[in-house]
Amino acid sequence: MIGGDGAIPMRATRLPATASQGAMVIGNTHPAATVDYAGRTLRVTPYGTFVFGIGRDATGEVVLRIKQPATAWIEHRVAITPRDWPVENINGVPPATVDPPPAIAERIEREQARVVAARIRDDARTGFAQAFAWPVEGRISGRFGNQRVYNGTPKSPHSGMDIAAPTGTPVKAPADGVVTFADPGLYLTGGTLVLDHGHGISSNFLHLSRIDAKVGDVVKQGDVIAAVGATGRATGPHLHWGMNWFDVRIDPLLVLERK
Ligand SMILES: [Zn+2]
Repeated sequence: MIGGDGAIPMRATRLPATASQGAMVIGNTHPAATVDYAGRTLRVTPYGTFVFGIGRDATGEVVLRIKQPATAWIEHRVAITPRDWPVENINGVPPATVDPPPAIAERIEREQARVVAARIRDDARTGFAQAFAWPVEGRISGRFGNQRVYNGTPKSPHSGMDIAAPTGTPVKAPADGVVTFADPGLYLTGGTLVLDHGHGISSNFLHLSRIDAKVGDVVKQGDVIAAVGATGRATGPHLHWGMNWFDVRIDPLLVLERK
């Protein structure tokens, strides 16, 4: 055989056997490996770490195809653990935010498209691999994935977790990242900030009363980036913290509880 491939040792790929719906999954393999999942080639760190998310409604198993320099393609399977998704009734929401008139619906669509664009970057930073910290201390007042019924009308499942805290409470970066979106006044989500933790993993913070960072700011875990509020479609002051792997929404609570 010609070439150096034979000299590069194979490295055991590490992945959990199971993962919950809404989980962020971190794996490890050869740093020079190609890792394919869900139509993407995942970015691999110089330490061989890669990450992906499992959607709320994913079932069965996920399959990753990994090729290390010294191996053929190998399939790795992670079984998905299903969860229960309770129904949550939320009443007293301003009707115009539940069934907005066409002009407002158009505005919402435009604003959401800007937020989505901020979440599809594939950045080399590695904040996603840190142990995440709570952005504010408080009671969980709304869980990820719950089926939400606003004023009696069923809407999309809750896309993040809500933490009850008074208006003005500082919001701290749960992990290192770069600010990729900051707007004090979106119609539905009010003061909105997106933090990119790398490899497609991002946090979004909604209903903020104040934003202390601007797009392009590189922040460290624990840095104050904003303040809790009740702007946009909110019934009271709280921090809505959503997380994504690209366009797949994941559960921040599972990220916090990772071992
Ligand atoms: Zn929320």
